[in-house]
Amino acid sequence: MAETERHEGFPVDMVGREHRLDTVRISLKKKALGDYASIVGRDVLEEIRRLASDIRGLRVLHINSTASGGGVAELLTTLVPLEVSSGIEAEWKTLPQHFDFFEVTKVFHNALQGMEYAPTKQDIKDYLDHNRLSAESDRSRYDLVIAHDPQPAAFRHFYGRKGAKWVWRCHIDTAHPNKAVWDFLRPFVEEHDAAVFTMDKFRPPGLEMPKNRILYIPPAIDPLSTKNRELPIALSREVLSEYGVDARRPLLTQVSRFDPWKDPIGVIRIYRQVKEQVPTLQLALVGFMAMDDPEAWRIYSSIEKETKDDRDIFMFTNLNGVGSLEVNAFQRLSDVVIQKSIKEGFGLVVSEAIWKGTPVVAGDTGGIPLQMKNGVGGFLADTEEEYVKWITFLLKNAKQSREIAGRGREFVRERYLVTRLLIDELKLFKLLAL
Ligand code: UDP
Repeated sequence: MAETERHEGFPVDMVGREHRLDTVRISLKKKALGDYASIVGRDVLEEIRRLASDIRGLRVLHINSTASGGGVAELLTTLVPLEVSSGIEAEWKTLPQHFDFFEVTKVFHNALQGMEYAPTKQDIKDYLDHNRLSAESDRSRYDLVIAHDPQPAAFRHFYGRKGAKWVWRCHIDTAHPNKAVWDFLRPFVEEHDAAVFTMDKFRPPGLEMPKNRILYIPPAIDPLSTKNRELPIALSREVLSEYGVDARRPLLTQVSRFDPWKDPIGVIRIYRQVKEQVPTLQLALVGFMAMDDPEAWRIYSSIEKETKDDRDIFMFTNLNGVGSLEVNAFQRLSDVVIQKSIKEGFGLVVSEAIWKGTPVVAGDTGGIPLQMKNGVGGFLADTEEEYVKWITFLLKNAKQSREIAGRGREFVRERYLVTRLLIDELKLFKLLAL
């Protein structure tokens, strides 16, 4: 395929093949554990401090594929600074940014979630070369390295043990992986000292590691990030009106990467059916264009074509300035948030919306039912009819909708705030490092 065709619609600031493939050190935000006291209580912070005191100064590296876009980047933006605030010497690096590698790893990602696929020799070569060159370029020393998702799963192999403990942290639904891709990746994963999945259902078949080295930790959201913190209602309204959305009319929103598993075309079908009963309804599709997700650019164009005649459908991305503040405003002011995932590792967006007091109607799949139950935070749906029924119900019953969202917020406070995740991570560090 010609170079120009292959790179169509993709940003050009990627590292070229001819460059060295250095890992990229991500500069960290400053976060102070003490700031969370009013949200989670002092006891939780005490527990964090107690756990961290035994492993103070532990050198920990988190490595993944991108610093922005998608749940893993979102998670590390908060978690790594909070580890630092707890006394851990935590660092965050990404693999070098390279188009061909991300084309391969996005297909691996889809295949691990069950898509049909036969990796080519070139795919395998691109994947291994990238991991090898990145690992060879990195001379730092750590006590513990956590490789997130399939992209750096072979980093450990090429880097060598080098005195560290190694963890493979998988954020996707690997319950029924494509056999060819999983057979290829499995030996690399098994070189790690532990593997962590979001839930036990996701444990892939045939993974040979000691039972007590396969752990389950669900992700969490940061209540103090720009995306999730309280936002004055007037400012939220201004943000929406800046993007042409009428804050006085009902709004349904999906915040997601443009990805087939998030089914944006299905969202449009549902919106059209609900609109027959609520004619003033607007739909916002808010989607980050992540660097490691070339597929998103193709899906974006196909949705644009599908929606161009409906002035009540809005598509926003980071490319037209939608960042954390804007996502915050959209999740906060929407009447209902939809998350029509077909497969979902966790779906941070569900907890994000519920935490802001907005009810969610979401697919009963993967990590979503961990975060909400029918009547607590919203409703789970299996079919399009169920989505239409619950969204219409929530739009037409404001009082019940508020109560359902309120119950959900307390559910999220207990289980899905970053302080709980930090406790789980520190326990993992202690288990492996001491
Ligand atoms: N996100 C964003 N802007 C967008 C779309 C998504 O900031 O336009 C964020 C979203 O708020 C969430 C993360 O990207 O924090 C997506 O994580 P999730 O676990 O829901 O899905 P993933 O992308 O990891 O599959």
